[in-house]
Amino acid sequence: MNYQQARWAEPLIFELSKLGRAWPPPSEKLLKSVNIPKKLLRRRLELPEVSEPQVVRHYTRLSQMNWGVDSGFYPLGSCTMKYNPKICEELAGLETVACIHPHQSEDTVQGALELMYKLEKYLAEIAGVSRVTLHPSAGAHGEFLGMHIIRAYHRFKEEGQRTEVIVPDSAHGTNFASAAMAGFNVVVVPSDVRGRVDLDALKNAVSDRTAALMLTNPNTLGLFEDQILEITDIFHSAGGILYHDGANLNGIMGKTRPGDMGFDIVHYNLHKTFSTPHGGGGPGSGPIGVTRELERFLPVPVVEYDQKHNRYYLDYDRPDSIGKINGFYGNFGVLVKAYAYILLMGADGLTEAAETATLNANYIMRKLLGVKGYELKFDSERPCKHEVAFSAEPLKRETGVTVRDIAKRLLDYGVHAPTYYFPPIVPEVLMIEPTETEPKEELDHFVDALKAIVEEARSRPEKLRTAPHATAIGRLDEVKASREPVLSWRMHRRLKG
Ligand SMILES: *Cc1c(COP(=O)(O)O)cnc(C)c1O
Repeated sequence: MNYQQARWAEPLIFELSKLGRAWPPPSEKLLKSVNIPKKLLRRRLELPEVSEPQVVRHYTRLSQMNWGVDSGFYPLGSCTMKYNPKICEELAGLETVACIHPHQSEDTVQGALELMYKLEKYLAEIAGVSRVTLHPSAGAHGEFLGMHIIRAYHRFKEEGQRTEVIVPDSAHGTNFASAAMAGFNVVVVPSDVRGRVDLDALKNAVSDRTAALMLTNPNTLGLFEDQILEITDIFHSAGGILYHDGANLNGIMGKTRPGDMGFDIVHYNLHKTFSTPHGGGGPGSGPIGVTRELERFLPVPVVEYDQKHNRYYLDYDRPDSIGKINGFYGNFGVLVKAYAYILLMGADGLTEAAETATLNANYIMRKLLGVKGYELKFDSERPCKHEVAFSAEPLKRETGVTVRDIAKRLLDYGVHAPTYYFPPIVPEVLMIEPTETEPKEELDHFVDALKAIVEEARSRPEKLRTAPHATAIGRLDEVKASREPVLSWRMHRRLKG
C-alpha cells in the first residue's frame, strides 16, 4: 500500500464524530433572534461532530486524492485544462458578486449588468460576431441553443424543410447530440487523408434540406481547416448556416476569428479558455455569438444599455426570440472570472496565450515524432494548433499495451492523462493539449514519461496493465463500476463491511 492509499484507508470524517466535539449548536437565544418558522426547524441534524483541524485535514486529504490542474500537468486535449489565475476566483467570490440575487431589482445590480454587457462586447470582438448571449451553462447547452436559433431562422425564411445538420466525423460528441436533441437529422461526413473535412463528401452532402454545418476549427486533431473559406462559400450559397464549435479558442484567439472565416454562430466555453477550471460537472458557461441577421432570435432577456439614462436593463421585448433557455442569466460567477481574465490579459495577452499554447503543442509534437511506438496518422508536416493527436497503435501492435494503460501509468509519473480514445477516427489516440501555462521543463518531463513508458511496455508490460500504482485508488474495474455503482459513502461502508 502506498502513502496515498494508506491515507484513503483512514477513517472518514463521519466516522471520527464524537458527541460534543464540535462547536456547540446555535443557542436558543440565537435561534429566537433569527426567527425561523418552527415548521422549518429540524429536531435532529445528523452532522458529524468533529474539531476544526479534523475538518481541515479531511478536506485537504480528499483534495489530494484527486488530480486537478493545481496538482500538476493536465494535458487533456480539447478540454483546455489550463491554469487559471487565482485572482479571478477571488473576484468571483467577493460578497458583492457571490451574494447578489437574480430577483433583485435592476437598479441594485447595475454593476452586474454592466459587466455582462461589456463581457458580451469583448467576446463579440474576440470571435468576430455581432452579438453574444451569455445564457448557456455549458458548451453543449450553447450548441443546443444555436440549433434552435438555426431552426427559428429557417422557419422565419419559410424554409422549414431544412432538417439536416452536417457534422464531420472528427467532431466532439456533443455536436451530434445537440443537433439530434434539437430535432435535426445528423449527416456525418468523413475526414480526408490530411485530417481535414473531406471537401467532396461535404459538397455531396449539401442539399436544399441542409440547415447547418457544425465545424470545429482548429478541429479536434489540432489541425486548422485551411479550406475554410471554400467550405463557408459552399454552405452559404446553399442557404445553410455555419456553426462554429469554439469550445476551445485557445489556439486562435487574437490571431483569427470564426466570424472572419464566415461562421454565423459560434460558441465559447468560458470554462475552458477564459479562466474557469472545470471537470466534475461545473459550473460552466457556453455563451454563443451570432451575426446581425440572427440577433433577433437570441434568447430573452438580452442585456441592453440605455444611453440617455445611463442605465443597464434586461430586455424581454423581443418578439422573434426563441424564448428562455436558462432560469435566470447563466452562471454569473463564471462570467465574472472571464471578464476579469480578459481585462487581466488584454488583447496582446490573449494573443500571446494562443501563440504559446500553439508553440507548446508543436514542441511536444516535434519531440514525440521520433519516438517509436507513437505516430501521427495525419499530416505530420504541418504545424498543429493548440493540440496534437498521436496514435499509440504501433506500441500496441508491438507489445499489446493499450493507450488506456499508458494513460493510467502517466499518473505514476505525476501527469494527468491526455484525452484518449477521442477523436475516434484515430486508433489508440492520445490527444495532447499542453496549454500556454506550462514551462518547458514540464513539457520535457511529459515527453520523457511517454518515452519511459515505451521502454516499460517492452520490458515489463504488467506494470502498465495494472497501473496506476502511486495514486489513492488503483486501476478501477470500469465495467463493474458502471454495472454496480457505489454512489455514496454509506454504500461504500456497507460493502467494506
Ligand atoms: C468541451 C467541448 C464541447 C462541449 O462543452 P461542454 O461544456 O463540455 O458541454 C464541445 N466541443 C468541443 C470541441 C469541446 O472541446
